[in-house]
Amino acid sequence: AYNFNAGPSALPLSVLQKAQEELVDFKGSGMSVMELSHRSALYEDVHNQAIALLKELYGMPEEYEVLFLQGGASLQFAMVPLNFLAEGQSAGYVMTGSWSEKAYEEANKLGQVYQAASTKEESYRRIPAPSELQIQPGSAYLHVTSNNTIFGTQWSDFPETGDVPLVADMSSDILSKPVDVKKFAMIYAGAQKNLGPSGVTVVIVRPDFLERATQNVPTMLRYDIHVKNNSLYNTPPTFSIYMLGLVLQWAKEQGGITAIARRNQEKAGLIYDAIDQSGGFYKGHAEKDSRSLMNITFRLQSEELEKKFLAEAKSAGFVGLNGHRSVGGCRASAYNAVPVEACQALRDFMLEFQKNNG
Ligand code: PLP
Repeated sequence: AYNFNAGPSALPLSVLQKAQEELVDFKGSGMSVMELSHRSALYEDVHNQAIALLKELYGMPEEYEVLFLQGGASLQFAMVPLNFLAEGQSAGYVMTGSWSEKAYEEANKLGQVYQAASTKEESYRRIPAPSELQIQPGSAYLHVTSNNTIFGTQWSDFPETGDVPLVADMSSDILSKPVDVKKFAMIYAGAQKNLGPSGVTVVIVRPDFLERATQNVPTMLRYDIHVKNNSLYNTPPTFSIYMLGLVLQWAKEQGGITAIARRNQEKAGLIYDAIDQSGGFYKGHAEKDSRSLMNITFRLQSEELEKKFLAEAKSAGFVGLNGHRSVGGCRASAYNAVPVEACQALRDFMLEFQKNNG
């Protein structure tokens, strides 16, 4: 199958094969990695290697902490304000799509928030320009969604926020392109798009930001508790973390993030070209300079034609091309594990479909 699912999404075939190979006997233990105690040396190796690999791939400054949590990115929508939005302070949210809205709404239940910018009135077709951002001095943090999975837009350059800590939801583009981690006080991402299977959420946090966190929060929701315990305060999602480690190893073998980014450019370029050269037969949702390399969203001239396109694509072996249920249309999610050939095949299919229906 050509898997263009938006999430959970494709995993590298070699990773699945490696997991299959090791499934019932992990490194001669006679047990599956799922059966190992999370306190065993064998498991701790898996855990610590995954942390080290993520740091290495991003060239992260040593002091940054990497956490493996549960509850998905959705729990981070609450955990961030619970820990960092103190009384008397407010936090800014840049509204670039449905996930930003969810993050904002969750924080709004817990403290004072404001919208530093929003492109909602333009159907979230673009990322706001830096000059549009109104960041209130003294804000607890500024929250951005680096890639908007549903609308298909992506930040290319992150805003300068001065003294205001920058927090990013990178669920749908983590590990897809080089990012200067130093710019961020915190990054979080559900694993199920570029990092592995669902069940684990990666949090990258700078210790000086952590020092601002309130401790008046239930234990499991405190970042400092997870840092102190190396994400082993309670039983972590061991199998998901093992799979994440395999994906990171795969990413390293691909030549690291820069090589992956180059490939992602090429992949998305194939599909955007088909859109741009269609003379309006396919219409991209995002403005060109806000286009996502991960989620390519487009429409056809009528819903009827879209239905036909999606049905024929399905028969031709393309999976997951339906747009999100809230917006309709079509969406091709070309995450890291989607091979160039799948994007080439989709482009060919799009050209052919246009020839027969244009
Ligand atoms: N943020 C973004 C940008 C997403 O794309 C998603 C899921 O698609 C989420 C948050 C929610 O993630 P989770 O399902 O891990 O809670």
